[in-house]
Amino acid sequence: MSFTTLGLSDPILKAVTDKGYDTPSPIQAKAIPVVLEGRDVMAAAQTGTGKTAGFTLPLLEILSKGQPARANQVRALVLTPTRELAAQVAESVETYGKHLKLRSAVVFGGVKINPQMMKLRGGVDILIATPGRLLDLYQQNAMSFNKLEILILDEADRMLDMGFINDIRKILKALPEKRQNLMFSATFSDDIRDLAKTIVNKPVEISVTPKNSTATTVTQWIHPVDKKQKPSLLVELIYQHKWEQVLVFSRTKHGANKLATFLEKHSIKAAAIHGNKSQGARTRALADFKAGKVRVLVATDIAARGLDIEQLPQVVNIDLPNVAEDYVHRIGRTGRAGATGQAISLVSADEIQQLQDIERLIQKLLPRKLVDGYEPIHDVPESKLRPPARPKKPKKPRPENANAAVNSSNRRSGNNNQNQGRRNSNNQGGNQSGNKTAPNGRRRQNASASTHGGPTAKKPSRRS
Ligand code: AMP
Repeated sequence: MSFTTLGLSDPILKAVTDKGYDTPSPIQAKAIPVVLEGRDVMAAAQTGTGKTAGFTLPLLEILSKGQPARANQVRALVLTPTRELAAQVAESVETYGKHLKLRSAVVFGGVKINPQMMKLRGGVDILIATPGRLLDLYQQNAMSFNKLEILILDEADRMLDMGFINDIRKILKALPEKRQNLMFSATFSDDIRDLAKTIVNKPVEISVTPKNSTATTVTQWIHPVDKKQKPSLLVELIYQHKWEQVLVFSRTKHGANKLATFLEKHSIKAAAIHGNKSQGARTRALADFKAGKVRVLVATDIAARGLDIEQLPQVVNIDLPNVAEDYVHRIGRTGRAGATGQAISLVSADEIQQLQDIERLIQKLLPRKLVDGYEPIHDVPESKLRPPARPKKPKKPRPENANAAVNSSNRRSGNNNQNQGRRNSNNQGGNQSGNKTAPNGRRRQNASASTHGGPTAKKPSRRS
């Protein structure tokens, strides 16, 4: 299979060759022809599968054939949950569209709105946006959607997790009814399917990995360890294995900051990246990490979405996510586009429930490795693999919102499910932070100390 057989024209093929790709990834091979036919698409694809090019290439192809955007007009809208992902998609649009005359813009919160308004004034063919800032701009008449041809929802599952459902509904209301819709999501939960029913019309469903599976190129294991010992164990692992570029996930912003400080104290260059950091600080931390100036990037789940760091060899979970699907997202940061990687989780006794949920989701038991000197006092009991969770029953729409979702003739009636809280089973389960003494105990790394803004927060403050 080659890119030349997919129906893309020369300027786009040239950009693809310049980028060094010879073969389309499975999602690209499946999605590109279907999108070019004008069909709606619902694709289950993890980050790392090449999904961005999967929608960007045909998008550019379609737009290059039509009338350029006039003043204030937007012809294609790409919605992403995070600023980082928006920037990433915008970069891909620039890269793959470099031999075309299409105009694009990216807008997200955390930076000044005026330059964004100026940019939109002349009209753009492709607008990449996070929902909050897009609505702010729309409410200030910065753009018109009357000529919108294509809507793309990237990482739709994360949009729901981040509480963007109402923003998305408002945005949908502003769009013309007749349009092509593409929806990408790493996982397809019932809530995502409910949302899809209000967006896509007779979609072609594409799936390139079995539901909720983890990339096979990633070797995964856990180190059972007492909670207090996790930071020191991480230092030990970094030195022992000479890891030069490690992405570490922390459940909380507070935990991320604390860990970065701990690592710095042990002469390991580290930076934290999370929603409380300014956009500038986040961009800088990421650039330094990519350039090798920072050895460890400690990120919360939300901040890490959209990070595309090629061939990242090591991902470490300093704590397990409360939501099992986030584990799949986290480890999708390594082993990207065919490269191999390692995903290592430091698991303490209080995380047994999260571990079991993850193992149930991915349907395999994670191998365990004890590290000398870090054997836990508080045992992490062996888990048993439970069968996959049964699909949930569809939820009833809430009466007060029952009319809100349906405004499009594209949409089938009766599917306006308003429920956004798919995060069901994983309550924070007692927050067992009560670690007792541990050997050579260093400062306590209490991952449950902060409750603000974790991925499970039902209504996180609007970030973008
Ligand atoms: P994505 O899933 O869109 O985040 O892409 C993951 C990574 O795969 C990015 O670093 C892309 O540059 C890379 N990539 C995308 N398509 C291809 C391809 N056809 N061949 C090789 N690498 C690719």
